[in-house]
Amino acid sequence: MTYPFEVEVLPYGYADLSPYLDADILHYHHDKHYATYVEKLNEILKNYPNLQNMTLDELLIKTEELPNEAKTAIKNNAGGVYNHELYFSCMNNNEKEMPTDQLALALNAAFGSIDQFKAELGSAAINQFGSGYAWLILSNGKPEVIATPNQDTPISLTVTPLLCIDVWEHAYYLQYQNRRADYVKNWFNLINWDFVGARYMSLMRK
Ligand code: MN
Repeated sequence: MTYPFEVEVLPYGYADLSPYLDADILHYHHDKHYATYVEKLNEILKNYPNLQNMTLDELLIKTEELPNEAKTAIKNNAGGVYNHELYFSCMNNNEKEMPTDQLALALNAAFGSIDQFKAELGSAAINQFGSGYAWLILSNGKPEVIATPNQDTPISLTVTPLLCIDVWEHAYYLQYQNRRADYVKNWFNLINWDFVGARYMSLMRK
């Protein structure tokens, strides 16, 4: 996928993640916030034909190829696209509490237990100051929890995100107001472990 980037369809209905996330939130989050990042990224790239054959990953990793005057705008908007697409893909309404198979083994090895992993991810999400994300990443093949501000994206040649939780206020304010911790706690019911597990396996095969 290269320019022009397209808005990915939500892999579930707006109301499907209720009661943990209301339809209103998903509607605005996907159709307005996320879609705007796609539009803005395309607007920028329209002026740079030599960047139009770069994939989203390449725009975020090969930053030395970006023109100085557009570097920040591309980082913010390509990051907004990448982060939201991963965030929406990481959720579903199966209410599967735990990962299985290889990912479960890797999380147990890295964090001691799945519950400890959840505690660390939840704490990173709650304590991220202002807007941003908390992530489960693979760093040189090893699972780690980190948090990033704004639309920063933890992607490089050696680091790849497996899942993320969006803690911008637009991700929860309509339903949870200022109670980010309640949103984070409920969000754990929404993790699409089949998607994250398959992503882990495909990255480990690379
Ligand atoms: Mn968002």
